[in-house]
Amino acid sequence: MHLYDAVVIGAGQAGLSASYHLGRLGLDHVVLDANDGPGGAWQHRWDSLTMDDVHGVADLPDAPAPVRSDARANHVLPAWFERYERDGDLPVERPVRVDRVETDGALLVVGAGERRWTARTLVNATGTWTRPFVPSYPGARSFRGEQWHTAHYPGASHFDGRRVLVVGGGASAVQFLGELAPRTDVLWVTRREPVWREDFDADAGRRAITRVHERVRRGLPPESIASVTGLALRPQEQEAARLGTYDARRPMFSRIEPDGVRWDDPAGAGQAAFERVDAILWATGFRPAIGHLAPLHLRSADGGIALLDGGQDVQASVTAAADPRVQLVGYGPSASTIGGNRAGRAAALAVRRHLQERATGRAA
Ligand code: FAD
Repeated sequence: MHLYDAVVIGAGQAGLSASYHLGRLGLDHVVLDANDGPGGAWQHRWDSLTMDDVHGVADLPDAPAPVRSDARANHVLPAWFERYERDGDLPVERPVRVDRVETDGALLVVGAGERRWTARTLVNATGTWTRPFVPSYPGARSFRGEQWHTAHYPGASHFDGRRVLVVGGGASAVQFLGELAPRTDVLWVTRREPVWREDFDADAGRRAITRVHERVRRGLPPESIASVTGLALRPQEQEAARLGTYDARRPMFSRIEPDGVRWDDPAGAGQAAFERVDAILWATGFRPAIGHLAPLHLRSADGGIALLDGGQDVQASVTAAADPRVQLVGYGPSASTIGGNRAGRAAALAVRRHLQERATGRAA
């Protein structure tokens, strides 16, 4: 049996950063990734998402990110990751979908079907893309039309001639409306009044990260960082704006019926209590993909995994409070490309610290 210093699960931005830093520290590790090829979640983003559309992709350690362009993000970024893995000789194994991580005394055993990897520590970098979130509304199963989630958005032309309800108050909902409104009939509902901004507000970004960090420190489930930084309309959404799509937003409906959605208490004069729709597009976000960690019992009573405070840089908070052998990167405050980078470095340092403490007999 080979005993690794660390097993990294996931080869997105956070996992690659962790692998780079583990390698620099001379730590023996393997990266297990469920995808068939490099690119993390980027390889699955919808085709119309260009490098101009993404909010901004941070550099990987020692590798500048591709520049903005009208090229497809799901081509450019996976190609960049592929070069990074190859040039850095990163020890990525794929496709390996980890289904559980268990404890065996002082060691951790990572399982994928019949296969096993044994390690002293774990870096979890599994992101959120594989866990699309759809809120539960009465009647959802009775709906006769189509239901889609961001994770499987089939492109605007799929909806031609259909009346589409877009649900969600995040950047992906804004983009989908921008694409759909000029070509078909759309409606928009959100749970909260959207907060619009003109430019990227760095202070709002920092406040959002701090808020998520505070939740995670207390063991609460993390919120999305992007959901609290505000929305902006870009040139490609101006036509939808001119058509009044964003102004016609309504609060969430009460229930779903076979042919549409119904509000029990329609807000505002003249608002219909029922809207017929042919398709519902749930742009309602994702949850952390951490089901495989369940045997480690890391979750607090509040449902999140509490992380130890990483000091000044909140994105360096990566160590599970319940088990310091486990580092979570790209989780909570580090769930962005820049956060993933920083957390990857913090995780490698935490792994080294843990191994040194064990070697000197100071670890719990
Ligand atoms: P991912 O890129 O999701 O990588 C996780 C990897 O882990 C995947 O390869 C996955 O297959 C693998 N994995 C998952 N479960 C398992 C398992 N059980 N076993 C083995 N492997 C597993 N952030 C930004 O900073 N800028 C942006 O412009 C931006 N745009 C975004 C747009 C959208 C639509 C969304 C949803 C998010 C966006 N984000 C953006 C946030 C973004 O998700 C992160 O910044 C970053 O891509 C996440 O990197 P990651 O390494 O944490 O996860």
